[in-house]
Amino acid sequence: MSYVDEVLERVIAKNPAEPEFHQAVKEVLESLRPVIEANEEKYRKEALLERLTEPDRQFKFRVPWVDDKGQVQVNTGYRVQFNNSIGPYKGGLRLHPSVNLGIIKFLGFEQIFKNSLTGLPIGGGKGGSDFDPKGKSDREVMAFCQSFMTELCKYIGADTDVPAGDIGTGAREIGYMFGQYKKIKSVYEGVLTGKGLSYGGSLARTEATGYGLLYLTEEMMKCNGYDMKDKVVCISGSGNVAIYATQKAQQLGAKVVTVSDSTGWVYDSEGIDVALLKEVKEVKRARLTEYAAARPSAEYHEGRGVWSVKCDIALPCATQNELLLEDAKQLVANGCIAVAEGANMPTTLEATEYLQQNKVLFAPGKAANAGGVATSALEMSQNSERLSWTFEEVDGKLKDIMVNIFHNLDDAAKRYGKEGDYVTGANIAGFEKVAEAMIAQGVC
Ligand code: GLU
Repeated sequence: MSYVDEVLERVIAKNPAEPEFHQAVKEVLESLRPVIEANEEKYRKEALLERLTEPDRQFKFRVPWVDDKGQVQVNTGYRVQFNNSIGPYKGGLRLHPSVNLGIIKFLGFEQIFKNSLTGLPIGGGKGGSDFDPKGKSDREVMAFCQSFMTELCKYIGADTDVPAGDIGTGAREIGYMFGQYKKIKSVYEGVLTGKGLSYGGSLARTEATGYGLLYLTEEMMKCNGYDMKDKVVCISGSGNVAIYATQKAQQLGAKVVTVSDSTGWVYDSEGIDVALLKEVKEVKRARLTEYAAARPSAEYHEGRGVWSVKCDIALPCATQNELLLEDAKQLVANGCIAVAEGANMPTTLEATEYLQQNKVLFAPGKAANAGGVATSALEMSQNSERLSWTFEEVDGKLKDIMVNIFHNLDDAAKRYGKEGDYVTGANIAGFEKVAEAMIAQGVC
């Protein structure tokens, strides 16, 4: 049996009931086959793939907190420190009822390659909890965040592991967590990124994932003979990534006609009104029904449906496995040119294959959404030198990083005779640096 197949079998047998983790490992290892086959003897001897698919360590802990009625609630907290061969563990904290160990491991595994692709010195980690911030008061969110950090602070530090935001963790949550870390440890350090501007945050970090997605998409389009002007874009999600992807797409001359949330989606024939979307989602933390109610050109639909709208570019920015094979078929039938993933693993393996077979340009999340974590690494640099850079400086570096990522994965795909296969290119480019660092550092 080939080394890749052996390791895939082993990962599934050793980690039962973690389907998202299996999916992420399968996607990466399948596309690494040409590199693994070229180095099979060496990698086998080093047990490189076994080491790469086994986290350095993982923490699971109780998070008790008191709700507004005086009732004690208990959630489960996680932090998976996956691989620190090229830098301190780095990756977000997801707060969502769906969170379990398998989901955190899939995200942590993806993060290793994504962080490597940025070209910056950051390793891969991820964490979170099954706590749902939706519908909770600010005091309840603070109580949860303080309890969560009371345990998490034992395992993290500016040179050890630097968590950040993800689904459910925004500026408010990062602020409460930073305050608790500082109180317990009596250390003022850049232990979290995505911080507020008044206490060490970086300009452009809020916008970075969405803006970065568009910088990479624009470069991919340009290198394939297209531009962004007047392109119709469908976006799913309405959180941080979707909002700033919409804004940047519009700045580049495209028209974004959809956004979605967990209960439904909006089609806006005039193009999404970003100011209104921000008001509804960032200020009121309300449903998209409020957007539709305030905007005559918008229709609200219950359930799923974003990918049925005819578009040139599809940007899934909500969550994992939200773009299925039937959606991919619909996009192809509607003449879609490009799909770029703003979320982590939003496209299923079958849907990705279908899009690629039908010549749709496909940018995987670990490349396309790397702008968020890249700008987090820039926040770490600013914290280390105790300076802050201007918006233009950070945004300029972000753009350069995203353009570079695209060329690195394009080159890696070409080197292995897979021109235009950006999934393979991203996995190979991300893997090569990590593999080299792991081997150089010996058995550890
Ligand atoms: N959660 C984001 C991601 O998936 C950002 C992580 C970070 O900034 O550390 O990459």
